Amino acid sequence: MFVEGGCFCGSIRYKLELNDYPSANCHCSICRRTSGAAFVSWIRVPSDCFEYISGEPKKIDSSSHGARYFCQECGTHVACFLKEDPKNINITICSLDKPQDFKPKAEIYVDDMLSWTKK
Ligand SMILES: [Zn+2]
Ligand SMILES: [Zn+2]
Repeated sequence: MFVEGGCFCGSIRYKLELNDYPSANCHCSICRRTSGAAFVSWIRVPSDCFEYISGEPKKIDSSSHGARYFCQECGTHVACFLKEDPKNINITICSLDKPQDFKPKAEIYVDDMLSWTKK
C-alpha cells in the first residue's frame, strides 16, 4: 500500500510504501531556517520505498553532510538526504496528503528548540 504527498502547488508529487518508519520533530537550526518554521516533522523512509511521481525538486546543499529538496515553483520543503544515512530519505510529514496519520514519534535536536515551542 502506498501513500502520496506533494508540494503546495502540486507540481511535485510523490508516493511512498506504507510501513512503520521512524519519525521525529527536528528542532535544528537548519530545519528552522530552510523552512521558516519553528521545527520540521520528518519521516525516514528507505530510498527504494519512495519515488517521485511528478516534478523535479531543487536540491540545496544545506551542510557538508546533507541536502534539502524543494519545489522549484512554490518552495515547499519536501525531502532531506543525509550522507551518513545513504539508504534512507527523510520526507516532510506535512507534505504528505494525510499528515494526521503520521504523528512524530520523537523530538530531536531538543537543545536547539525555541523556548516558546510547545512540546
Ligand atoms: Zn510546488
Ligand atoms: Zn533538522
